[in-house]
Amino acid sequence: MIKPKKVLIVDDSSDALALARVRLGKEGLEVVCADGGKSGLALAAKERPDLILLDLDMPDLSGFDVCRALKADEELCMIPVIFLSGSGGPEDKVKGLDLGAVDYVTKPFDAFELRARVNAALRTKHMQDLLIEYAKIDPLTGLANRRALMERLAQEWARIQRHGGQLSFIMGDVDHFKRVNDTHGHLAGDRVLREIAAAIASQCREIDLPTRYGGEEFAILVPDENAEGAGRLAERCRQAVEAIRVTVGSETSRPTASFGVADAAAAGSAEAMIQQADEALYRAKSAGRNRVEGPRPGLAAANSTP
Ligand code: GH3
Ligand code: MG
Ligand code: MG
Repeated sequence: MIKPKKVLIVDDSSDALALARVRLGKEGLEVVCADGGKSGLALAAKERPDLILLDLDMPDLSGFDVCRALKADEELCMIPVIFLSGSGGPEDKVKGLDLGAVDYVTKPFDAFELRARVNAALRTKHMQDLLIEYAKIDPLTGLANRRALMERLAQEWARIQRHGGQLSFIMGDVDHFKRVNDTHGHLAGDRVLREIAAAIASQCREIDLPTRYGGEEFAILVPDENAEGAGRLAERCRQAVEAIRVTVGSETSRPTASFGVADAAAAGSAEAMIQQADEALYRAKSAGRNRVEGPRPGLAAANSTP
């Protein structure tokens, strides 16, 4: 079922709130209301609406102040704002749009005009959400891409700095993948990459983030685990990749991959953790490929390989 779009109305006039609520409720929109600027800001953070209708004149915080605060907030700045105002002078309209609002409706509003402007803003917001989502997905494999990984890594790193806890990182690289392309062609290579992505994702928990890091490299962000726990996941991924058979014409491709594991405890920064996983991966390659290496030289991650 498609989730109804959520609209937050911030207005100190109870009449305006009631009217807008009824009109927009009839459109199948979920409507939440705040009767002042401060409560509006708090509700925006809590409810994450798809659109905010914002009254200009309110006693505690003006609509301009609320809009400024919304646009300065990294989490809320992408929510479109439509100003509602009784005055409707051109200066206010210009100022509102300059502050980042997408539109301006003069009160008392015409129900049809309000509906049309709200729907137009929601259509644009929907396109924006899709673009943001697509920008984080690798089109070949459907996994999250490197951009999504780096964003989540920054969040998870900040989380363990604040609250403590564990975080690990796995870097995987398909073995001799160039040969797959050279032997079976690039399209077959692409099929192999898709199978490998699915195999890796199938071993991950909901909170893990399996990603295509680039080319034939896959990275997994593993919250709440140290290198030993992540090493077990990497080993399961290695086995899942090893079990793949991709038939190309009369031949069968049997890919393998190598994995390097690192954890936050041994790294001073998120970048250092990636670097350490990369070094472990390099050791796995040098030691013969199709294996998992842990954070320190000579210390293979738990349950490591052949
Ligand atoms: P190693 O075991 O040392 O990792 O050897 P390798 O051959 O896997 O490593 P190398 O870096 O030499 O080659 C990686 C290959 O991956 C070369 C590149 O053409 C191929 N590749 C990268 N991205 C894609 C892709 O999206 N599709 C296909 N089919 N091939 C890709
Ligand atoms: Mg590579
Ligand atoms: Mg490779």
